[in-house]
Amino acid sequence: MRTITLKDVSKTFYDKSRKLTPVLAIKDFNLHVDDGEAVVLLGPSGCGKTTLLRLIAGLDQPDSGEIFYNDLPLDEIPIEDRGIGMVFQNYVLIPHWESRKTVGFFLRLRDREEEVPAHVNTVAKITGVDIESLMGRFPRNLSGGEKQRVSIARAFARDLELLLFDEPFANLDAKFRAQARVELKRLIQEFNVTLIYVTHDQVEAMSVADRIVVINAGRIIQSGPYRDLHDDPDSLFVAEFLGTPTINAFWGRVNDGEWDGSYMGRAALPRPRPDGSEVIVGIRPQHIKICDQNGGIPATIERVIPFYAEQYTLLEVWLRKRRWRIQAPLHERFQPGETVHCQLDWPRALFFDAASGDRIR
Ligand code: ATP
Repeated sequence: MRTITLKDVSKTFYDKSRKLTPVLAIKDFNLHVDDGEAVVLLGPSGCGKTTLLRLIAGLDQPDSGEIFYNDLPLDEIPIEDRGIGMVFQNYVLIPHWESRKTVGFFLRLRDREEEVPAHVNTVAKITGVDIESLMGRFPRNLSGGEKQRVSIARAFARDLELLLFDEPFANLDAKFRAQARVELKRLIQEFNVTLIYVTHDQVEAMSVADRIVVINAGRIIQSGPYRDLHDDPDSLFVAEFLGTPTINAFWGRVNDGEWDGSYMGRAALPRPRPDGSEVIVGIRPQHIKICDQNGGIPATIERVIPFYAEQYTLLEVWLRKRRWRIQAPLHERFQPGETVHCQLDWPRALFFDAASGDRIR
């Protein structure tokens, strides 16, 4: 049983290279992670994801606020009783320890070295390779991907209640990465481990998470299952951050109670706004259909980019004097310079206040 609670946690660093300029990494952060829940922290580079993991692990102290494991303040729990398996981006392997010693450290301390092979086997399953062959090697003789596998093995070779993973599969081959996510998900369910997982990668977030927490500039912007965040974002930031290809976003002004995007035309707003206010409309590339000439808006194709794994073709087109991204079926053939006709699914358009970025519902 392991829940994690952060209450009003803040952390500031002082940048030594810039005369100790304060860098606010985390601000008034509140989060509760349930027992056995898989939470992914997703956000742009520098938004505070690694800082959060380090605070939750007890490697750094918050300036203010509190962190609880179940209902106990973290600093009252001895390190050896925290039950954390960690995999960080930079592996932190001890240079003069061969992998077997690294992986077996926790179990050897408790005279349970005979359990190491089972844990190694678990990691071999996750990462799809026989890692037994890495066990006799030192970190200097391991590739980035191999170091990552050893560090995952070390995370699993203990009595686990909480896994803290910071881009754990970044150095695995693309082929193994997909398999690793599925296997990890299976294992955390099987062992009922709580998982907090940091990534930039939406596909990874989608496949691992029960819940995604979108972070920007040290704060939670929105949290929920991927589908909810993607289809029903509270802000332009979330709408633009989630979803590939990226949502089309166009500026306009309210005119006679309607959104008016000049060449783009007009559209009904979900809620009345004062005339003159600035509003951004977002239309996802999936919500534009290529149709026959009748009733469609003409668009000139600028670029055609096939995505074979994802099974779609991304078209960049000029439509009503704006550049748009359209997600088209992979099997249809398109050429740059060609004119196609498009239908915009206006009922699925999202509207945002241009000043605050907040969704207008
Ligand atoms: P990335 O995805 O690039 O790893 P991140 O979201 O994990 O980024 P953090 O590493 O948590 O971001 O950093 C948050 C902010 O705090 C950044 O502005 C970073 O430059 C700053 N920061 C982190 N650690 C330190 C430190 N030890 N000293 C000074 N500033 C720091």
